[in-house]
Amino acid sequence: MYRNFKIVPNIIFGRGCFNQLDGILQERRTDPDTPIIFVLDDVFKGKTLEGRIPLRGKDMILHVNVDDEPKTSYIDELVTLLKETYPVTPAGIIGIGGGSTMDIAKAVSLMLTNPGSAADYQGWDLIHNPAVYHAAIPTLSGTGAEISRTTVLTGPEKKLGINSDYTLYDQIMLDPELLAGVPKDQWFYSGMDCYIHDVESLTGTFLNEFSRAYGEKSIELCRQVFLEDHPERDDKLMMASYFGGMSIAYSQVGACHALSYGLSFVLGTHHGIGCCITFDYLEEIYPQGVAEFRRMMDKHGITLPRNLTANLSAEELDTMATVALGLTPLWENCLGKGWEEQMTRERVLELYRRM
Ligand code: NAD
Ligand code: ZN
Repeated sequence: MYRNFKIVPNIIFGRGCFNQLDGILQERRTDPDTPIIFVLDDVFKGKTLEGRIPLRGKDMILHVNVDDEPKTSYIDELVTLLKETYPVTPAGIIGIGGGSTMDIAKAVSLMLTNPGSAADYQGWDLIHNPAVYHAAIPTLSGTGAEISRTTVLTGPEKKLGINSDYTLYDQIMLDPELLAGVPKDQWFYSGMDCYIHDVESLTGTFLNEFSRAYGEKSIELCRQVFLEDHPERDDKLMMASYFGGMSIAYSQVGACHALSYGLSFVLGTHHGIGCCITFDYLEEIYPQGVAEFRRMMDKHGITLPRNLTANLSAEELDTMATVALGLTPLWENCLGKGWEEQMTRERVLELYRRM
């Protein structure tokens, strides 16, 4: 069976296109008492970007903190706050920030129309009711969260996305000017998330011509950004992220993502840096990708943290391995059917011990 997948229907791209946000939201504003909620990464509190948000009527800027990656409990809190503040369901949720903020905005828009806790919907196609209209404006590029049908959340029992067609954004606004102030390390880690999506998609067994077309373009753009220091690198990275996301939408990620999920679950390691740390130990699986990734690190003077797992107990290491090995589709994409014979628990533990 071929997947029949949905994509984001409205996309605007270009430097300064943020200025068109007010116009785009106009058609959503049918009732003056119904607000639009701007979910803003609190790194922008008091900054120029916050002042440019086109607030009207009863709109609210909802500052969110992403020091920790989003948890289901945080989504539940934000939804309760909105329900207590407004007697009506908001007309729109606009996420402005990196992957974490975009995921929070997706989850809030879903949970305003679906009962219970966000944790109840971690999995595949568990959402029944369409979300509130939601739009994303990335300020950091690489994750592909702007184009994906998931919102990755850490719940009480698992780190797993709410995967559904309703999760997809209704509108994305790609304005490369918004990447200007990203600290260099973070820019690199999130950008490498995209590069690793491409490598995992392009070398995977699930690859088809659709995924290859997007993945090849995305990796070419990553090379221009991270090896050539192209003057239009922000524009290129924004498109690389989108294309990388489109590539994995029809294929899958692989070993690096599986192992980084284990790290993140036990140590709280953030996604971008966690993928970089993990990828550096996967030369056996991705020899060319890892060699090129190291050239990119050298060029940008990036050093990765080491010995993360040195003080972990055998039980914690085992939990990591369980989380990683549980991600069957990722391993199947990476190593094919029968992957269990190649990626044994002992091999996973050995990789973790080296990190
Ligand atoms: P992020 O959103 O976690 O942000 C990282 C840091 O950069 C934060 O401190 C943030 O405040 C800061 N930041 C963001 N934009 C900035 C700017 N313009 N200037 C200065 N600082 C800025 O980082 P990310 O790598 O974009 O996202 C990672 C998250 O995305 C993780 O939670 C991960 O689980 C999720 N993710 C989701 C998907 C998906 O398909 N939904 C895919 C991959 C990753
Ligand atoms: Zn990723």
